[in-house]
Amino acid sequence: MPTYLHCAPPLALAAALGPRRVPAGLLAAGVAASVLPDLDMLAVWHAGVRYDTVLGHRGLTHSIGFALALGLLAALAARRRGWRPGIAFLFVAASAVSHPLLDLLTDRGIGSALFYPLTDRRVNLPWRPLPLSAAGLFGVARLRLECLWIGLPLLAAGTLGAGLRLWLERAGLARRPALAK
Ligand SMILES: [Zn+2]
Repeated sequence: MPTYLHCAPPLALAAALGPRRVPAGLLAAGVAASVLPDLDMLAVWHAGVRYDTVLGHRGLTHSIGFALALGLLAALAARRRGWRPGIAFLFVAASAVSHPLLDLLTDRGIGSALFYPLTDRRVNLPWRPLPLSAAGLFGVARLRLECLWIGLPLLAAGTLGAGLRLWLERAGLARRPALAK
């Protein structure tokens, strides 16, 4: 599990989509959705919930179902906030599901109940290329590893995406939507 950079996917996605599609409030909702799944540790630490159960770590909060539910909440809040409902749904759901996907790409931790509520079976990916087990959960060494393996690739992806969006808009190949609130 990344400790510091679960927020990197929504930041990169927002850079690629631009502030007219993802205004600051929606970006904040996406960042919150990307870190929210690990609140399940509170149930483990303070309510005595077993680590490997559905309510434990990497259970229902690390599922596609949970991500879709958060996306739906964002879509419902969209009109009041001046966001586009479809974009709000997709952006928040993608931000939330990026959390278990990043977890599963790291070389530490148990599997996630990714397909809950269809099944509570824990899923692991056969390919776990992010080498975070070389450092503890917190500290400078950990932050450096996350910046190298998560921050830099997503910074590159966000920059590329933003450049492509600007180029498409300037070339008249993509619509430049009105600024949302
Ligand atoms: Zn997690």
